[in-house]
Amino acid sequence: MRTPFVAGNWKMNTTVAEAEKLVHEMLVPLNDITRVEKVLCPPFVSLSAVKNILQDSDVKVGAQNMYFETKGAYTGEISPLMLSELCEFVILGHSERRRYFGESDEMINKKMTAALKNGLKPILCVGERLEENESGKTEEVISRQLTGALAGIESTDNMVIAYEPVWAIGTGRAASGEQATATIKFIRDSVAKLWSRDLSQNLRILYGGSVTGDNIAEFISCPDIDGALVGGASLKAGEFVAIVNQTAAIKKNTTSKL
Ligand code: PEP
Repeated sequence: MRTPFVAGNWKMNTTVAEAEKLVHEMLVPLNDITRVEKVLCPPFVSLSAVKNILQDSDVKVGAQNMYFETKGAYTGEISPLMLSELCEFVILGHSERRRYFGESDEMINKKMTAALKNGLKPILCVGERLEENESGKTEEVISRQLTGALAGIESTDNMVIAYEPVWAIGTGRAASGEQATATIKFIRDSVAKLWSRDLSQNLRILYGGSVTGDNIAEFISCPDIDGALVGGASLKAGEFVAIVNQTAAIKKNTTSKL
């Protein structure tokens, strides 16, 4: 049985003061929700402040990116070693990183390897673009992203995968539960073939792309979807709490422990 997982990706939003305010608004209601692993991913500059506010809480912290080297002359970059003092999770391979910052599968693989080596748990994002979806290439793209990002990695323990179709991110045009399930099943089958059935059965796979309090139930009701990576809606305390709340309620009969 897989513990449901909901992460909020705040992207490049919130000053430190705004991040603190947002966490304070969510903290009490999020703490009351059990049996869901809850993660907030603020910008780098707010990680420390958010971590401090969450220190007595079971809500966890994640970063949105990192470089793969541990230290050195890489001006402006943040290393996995630095992050390991501040957070438990790190989002890697987000489509905005691939699109705006030219991140390749090879680079994402280096980041995945470095994150795991430094005790960070990656939330690996994969997903096809609209034209790839429309030309029937979804599985081919996902397969390439998975084998690229996970090359040389021996286990899928300590990671979470998020299926995020690029055409659904920030567009208000979410996939359907059926579409998301089909690709998530494909991801799970691929992991079973590349690693083992046991690992694939234990791996949490999320859906991400225009998730809101109004549509989360459609995804979470699908047994193959273990949670959500939430962008825009995670910036509104009430909306994010509603997403986590519904996840807990809908999955309550299918999960054992946190
Ligand atoms: C994301 O940033 O990972 C995301 C899914 O964004 P949104 O929920 O805004 O589509």
